[in-house]
Amino acid sequence: AQPGIRALKAYDPGHDLVALRRRFGAGRLVELGANENPYGPSPAARQAALEALDTAHRYPDPLGGGLKRALADRLGVAPAQLLLGNGSHELLMQFAQVFAGPDAAVAMSQHGFAVYALAAQAAGAPLQFAPAWAPDAAMPRGHAPNALASVVSARTRLLYLANPNNPTGTWIAADALAALLARLPDEVIVVVDEAYAEFADAPDYRSALSLLPRHRNLVVTRTFSKAYALAGLRVGYAVADAGLIAVMERLRESFNANSVALAAATAALEDEAHLQRVVSANAQQRPLLAEALRARGCFVHPSQTNFLLAGFGDDAAAVEAGLLQRGVVVRPMAGYGLPQCLRITVGTADENTRLLRALDETTKPTY
Ligand code: PMP
Repeated sequence: AQPGIRALKAYDPGHDLVALRRRFGAGRLVELGANENPYGPSPAARQAALEALDTAHRYPDPLGGGLKRALADRLGVAPAQLLLGNGSHELLMQFAQVFAGPDAAVAMSQHGFAVYALAAQAAGAPLQFAPAWAPDAAMPRGHAPNALASVVSARTRLLYLANPNNPTGTWIAADALAALLARLPDEVIVVVDEAYAEFADAPDYRSALSLLPRHRNLVVTRTFSKAYALAGLRVGYAVADAGLIAVMERLRESFNANSVALAAATAALEDEAHLQRVVSANAQQRPLLAEALRARGCFVHPSQTNFLLAGFGDDAAAVEAGLLQRGVVVRPMAGYGLPQCLRITVGTADENTRLLRALDETTKPTY
């Protein structure tokens, strides 16, 4: 294998969920490890997916025209500014394939989403990590954009940042993001990963879509996996300058977004009411869960997503194991350099209650 590939480890989802579902029963396992949407997709998306099966013997529309038109209308951009992917993960990988390499470095935050580092390594590109902040304290305002700007050098060609971020759940305020973009040279492609944007409701949060007309080096990625609850069907998209998208299209796999996924995503996009129900249920549960965890002594990071990063001190691994024994899956964060933290998806009211009950049974609360 190429040197960049030799050093890689295969993606580790953390748990053998198939075995766990068998052990606890599929409906009984509380799955709060993957930031999935517990409410499920729009019934209209399910129906559209079923209907698309009638033409499963045909290749999908290679250009994803219907979904692109629907997205273009919704976002106020041209269809030529959109690129569809087999999940946004595929697109994140492809940006490094196209823009990074041994002489074209990639900048990201030390606690940025793991796929960015994977993409850079696969492209043989040097990584420039922006320093993290103390994980047991709230991120100081402005830390993320300042830290990112400080690692960008003359050889940086690609910068990834998630807003809101996974695994921290934190966000960069609109003015700070605009200032970061204004400060970065045009030669740096800036990928703002908005996988969780639909959940964000803080007054100082704004999607980077509004900055696109001013920055031809800006890319915004989104996904149907989270708020639209179509993680299993794999559809993501990128929005950018049409010229940049045209370059990306050269390397796109011919039929990367499948016909069932395209149909379901188009229908899901139209069901605005379902999206709003999911987003408000999450907005209602998130502070309740955060408060309940804080009441148990955890440090809980502020979140604009559908998950919480919670600090359990030296007990984190024992807590995770104890929860798993009781049929509750959360995500250990040692792989992210945050061994004292667990990342917990905000579930339904019932799931959150079961999580908290399991937590109370698990260990003596010394964290
Ligand atoms: N970006 C971020 C920040 C994520 O958390 C995830 C999923 N965990 C993705 C991208 C990839 O999502 P998908 O490939 O399902 O679109």
